[in-house]
Amino acid sequence: MKQTRKGLLLVVSGPAGVGKGTINLSLISRNSDIRMSVSATTRSPRPGEIDGVHYFFKTDAEFQKMIESGAFLEYMRVFNTHYYGTPKSFVEQELAEGRSVILEIDVQGAMRVKAAYPDAVLIFIAPPSMSELKSRLIHRGTESSEAIERRFETAFQEMELVDRYDYVVVNDILDLAIARTEDIIVAERCRVSRNGELIEKLKGGRSAL
Ligand code: 5GP
Repeated sequence: MKQTRKGLLLVVSGPAGVGKGTINLSLISRNSDIRMSVSATTRSPRPGEIDGVHYFFKTDAEFQKMIESGAFLEYMRVFNTHYYGTPKSFVEQELAEGRSVILEIDVQGAMRVKAAYPDAVLIFIAPPSMSELKSRLIHRGTESSEAIERRFETAFQEMELVDRYDYVVVNDILDLAIARTEDIIVAERCRVSRNGELIEKLKGGRSAL
């Protein structure tokens, strides 16, 4: 039985290299009612990244235009260099149609989403240890050692905001981390506060007996 008409707005954050992208991809491939929001960014594509799939790659001018037209649910300048933003229309349409949407965004963006949508579910994906995170970043091999150092520093800053999240999932073993995240989604869908319509219907059901 479908328990709720409105989808869940799920915010998944975590330091670079923690595996949040892999977890999210697995969630959407296993659950047809969960979609991934595609952010817009002014950074250049990494090898293998496809426009419209991983990001909508924009020029600074295009991004500014989107800001001015109110196209973003939230946007941010990350690492003081590039802009990143969540296009609003896709998210709102999916939620209205009963599907859940994952936003894979940074911790500042997550705080803005929570302020604007208090029933959003904030999940922080954490590494088993900071040294393990560093070795995953190095082995990913997509960036210079300078960029890796910067991302690692950012990871410590991000950890400062973990207590503002609803859940923390440690990505020690990938399959377990995916299962934990799915369990969170199931539990959130079962929240009394998200099932008002069903409960009212059951309460008023005596007349139909
Ligand atoms: P990357 O350059 O590694 O793809 O992403 C850098 C950071 O930007 C990550 O922490 C990522 O989660 C964040 N990010 C990606 N899209 C958005 C977005 O739309 N909004 C915000 N606030 N952060 C984003």
